[in-house]
Amino acid sequence: MTNMNGLSVNLRGLLLVALLFVGNFASAFAATVKDIRLGVTKERTRIVLDLQSDVDFDIFLLDSPRRVVVDLPSLEWPENQPKEAGLVQKLRFGQFTADKSRLVIDAKGPVKVAKSFMLPPSSGLPHRLVIDLVKASSTEFASQVAKDRAAKRSANKTVKAPVPFAPKPQRRANSKPVIVLDAGHGGVDPGALGRKAREKSVTLAFTRELAKQLRATGKYKVYLTRNRDIYIPLRQRVNIARKHDADLFISIHADAIKRKNVRGMSIYTLSETASDKEAAALAKKENQSDIIAGIDFADQPPEVANILIDLAQRETKNLSVKFANLVVDNARGKTQLLDRTHRFAGFRVLKAPDVPSVLIELGFLTNRSDEKQLLTTSWQRKVAGALVKSVDGFFRSSRVAALR
Ligand SMILES: [Zn+2]
Repeated sequence: MTNMNGLSVNLRGLLLVALLFVGNFASAFAATVKDIRLGVTKERTRIVLDLQSDVDFDIFLLDSPRRVVVDLPSLEWPENQPKEAGLVQKLRFGQFTADKSRLVIDAKGPVKVAKSFMLPPSSGLPHRLVIDLVKASSTEFASQVAKDRAAKRSANKTVKAPVPFAPKPQRRANSKPVIVLDAGHGGVDPGALGRKAREKSVTLAFTRELAKQLRATGKYKVYLTRNRDIYIPLRQRVNIARKHDADLFISIHADAIKRKNVRGMSIYTLSETASDKEAAALAKKENQSDIIAGIDFADQPPEVANILIDLAQRETKNLSVKFANLVVDNARGKTQLLDRTHRFAGFRVLKAPDVPSVLIELGFLTNRSDEKQLLTTSWQRKVAGALVKSVDGFFRSSRVAALR
């Protein structure tokens, strides 16, 4: 089989961006959003952000699904979530990049931004960003999307080329195994919602505990794709793992489901054919992250594909399965497990061809007992402990050692 050390990446361009994300997070907020309000009349739906100060904003439309996206500087956002109303299906907001935040408005149908403007404080009201949406025809909507896309393209002229897949340099002998931990969702993408818990916060808390325990062993180099409440595109999470030349990638999530009695942990590895309908639906849901955050897929470079990737993938898949089995063994008795605990599906975040990768759903935020225990430190410690044991077992095995 191919030596895993012989495979690698040349991702400088993208990695620079990745570094900006993982790097300096000491950014201050430009302003605080005190409130978000919706006002509906027969003709229009008005969205108002009450702000502590004047801010610059950039507004554009995206299709499939139809969204209005508002880019803003880093803002402190409120906890409350306005209910759907008028032409607004759903509102999401949060940190988008290190210096940008984003408001994504899911539209109920084709809409038009009739007006968008800042209002100075008056009669006891603070600075306000006002966005008026009105109904439009599908054709009007589509032509505005095309116009916005063209404007964006000419504004950032850098053409993103597909990333070449090249052999990576030989790792030095005796170097510590590298583990990249990925707290799912973040920033403008909250993930699944429980009664109290938001997936993005649960995954971050658990990931921090796991990183702490792994580092305490002194045996591993541990990196996080995010260590704050920020959105990271799925492909970038994969690129961070490859940039660090990771030996193992663990993506942490928590699920939500209509049937509130369903509970327990599950673990997923990559496969083009899903092991069952539920796994396929879950992958579809998790893959929505970029859409939720308002990413325009028309501007994404295509996925790379070549024969080197196929070779690497086969070995990587076997190792991923091996690690998943260890997790199931070690977690048994420590927490409830979903039946058929290890499943397969096409998760985009597991697509690094040369990094063994798993996605763990810690439990269900829609189940009261699961939600409660996911929020307790003692449970986080215990389950993180089971994962450390699995990592130890994984790297102890001669098969993995031989590949390093
Ligand atoms: Zn998730």
